[in-house]
Amino acid sequence: MEKLADPSRRRFFRGRVKTKQEIRLPWVINEAVFTSGCTQCQKCITRCETNIIVKDEDGYPKIDFSLGECSFCNKCIEACEQPLFSGAFTEENRVNKSEKAWPVTLEISDKCLAKNNIYCQSCRDECESSVIKFNYLNSSIPQPSLDNIDCNQCGACIKSCPQDAIAFTFNATEN
Ligand code: SF4
Ligand code: SF4
Ligand code: SF4
Repeated sequence: MEKLADPSRRRFFRGRVKTKQEIRLPWVINEAVFTSGCTQCQKCITRCETNIIVKDEDGYPKIDFSLGECSFCNKCIEACEQPLFSGAFTEENRVNKSEKAWPVTLEISDKCLAKNNIYCQSCRDECESSVIKFNYLNSSIPQPSLDNIDCNQCGACIKSCPQDAIAFTFNATEN
């Protein structure tokens, strides 16, 4: 896609009311810093080793976990050559991975097959961190639960779900 070289056009896009908050590249500080620095060069999109970065409706990159997982390879961040944009990432956290990549919580909705008494454990099988557990509780079908503290936010479980029942939601106190 062409760059938004016309400043007035870029301001127009920034001024639009967003109905949905997008998940940007890992360790981006916040939406405003990101969209003010990103030139929509698409280098991050082409460098992503799992091909999960796509353009949002305004041309800015966002993560689409329905396409696959994030390996936290950092290639998208390294591909970004905007001098001002380097400040958009939390450098210490990116290098040390001391904090989560996004201010989000993973949730399993009521669309889950197991919650509707149909056997399924696809998400657990995909989780390398083993944070999705299944227990019978009071049901005849094992029910899923997940530990967001130990979840590394890779998103691998999201694509694995046949019901599209797993999603990240932004934490209320962030951004
Ligand atoms: S860290 Fe790697 S896998 Fe994750 S979005 Fe960036 S390029 Fe893709
Ligand atoms: S993969 Fe989806 S439908 Fe299956 S148990 Fe997990 S959340 Fe439920
Ligand atoms: S996002 Fe979390 S729960 Fe899902 S596969 Fe990755 S570590 Fe497991």
